[in-house]
Amino acid sequence: MKLTRTTTLHLAVLLLLCLPALAQTKVLSGKVVAVADGDTITVLDALRQQHRIRFQGIDAPESGQDFGAKAKQHLSDLVFGKEVTVEYEKSDRYGRTLGKVLVGQQDVNREMLRAGLAWHYKFYEREQTPQDRETYSFEEARARKLKTGLWSQASPTPPWDFRRGGSRRNSPADATRRSESRETVTTADRTEAVYVTRTGAKYHRGSCRHLSRSKIPISLSEAKRTYGACKVCHPPQ
Ligand SMILES: [Zn+2]
Repeated sequence: MKLTRTTTLHLAVLLLLCLPALAQTKVLSGKVVAVADGDTITVLDALRQQHRIRFQGIDAPESGQDFGAKAKQHLSDLVFGKEVTVEYEKSDRYGRTLGKVLVGQQDVNREMLRAGLAWHYKFYEREQTPQDRETYSFEEARARKLKTGLWSQASPTPPWDFRRGGSRRNSPADATRRSESRETVTTADRTEAVYVTRTGAKYHRGSCRHLSRSKIPISLSEAKRTYGACKVCHPPQ
């Protein structure tokens, strides 16, 4: 079958629209026995097996950051010692499960955004269902507008910048320097762009055959944090 360029494009768009529906959601449940920070917990299931859960779609301030301790405390108040259900699709290279945590019907990931104690993690938003993506984005926007939690700060440092070694820069005099340094980071990311798939645990060069089904750009630093290097295409490490 010979496909015109337009048909191919249409098929590609159609495939992209279908992806969230195709991904299989799994469920685990158990009791929360530890809260590591504002977006990571440990769940003990009925078979006494422990699961380390990284909250999908959000990124809470690190413990060394402003509101890091508040985020952890709020998450503890919400889930510690409680029975939770975790909806997930995959685990990362550290054996952490990326998931949505529910207490009863309450979406705890969303609750952290509502409380102004986490960012909507837009870097990975393509892994969310369209509804969650919209809801999480809305909750962050609302918290920003109401200056709830960390949004009470003039210009909070996102955790992904903080992890790269960024520090808090709040003075207006630093604004120019900040935007310059952002630009540097962006450029560096672009030169080192690597790719991941919706379900795989590896990251790849753009040309890798493993990217035939999905190809999600990601910065090298983020990729190294969560994924392993592909053994076929040997991406930068
Ligand atoms: Zn590869």
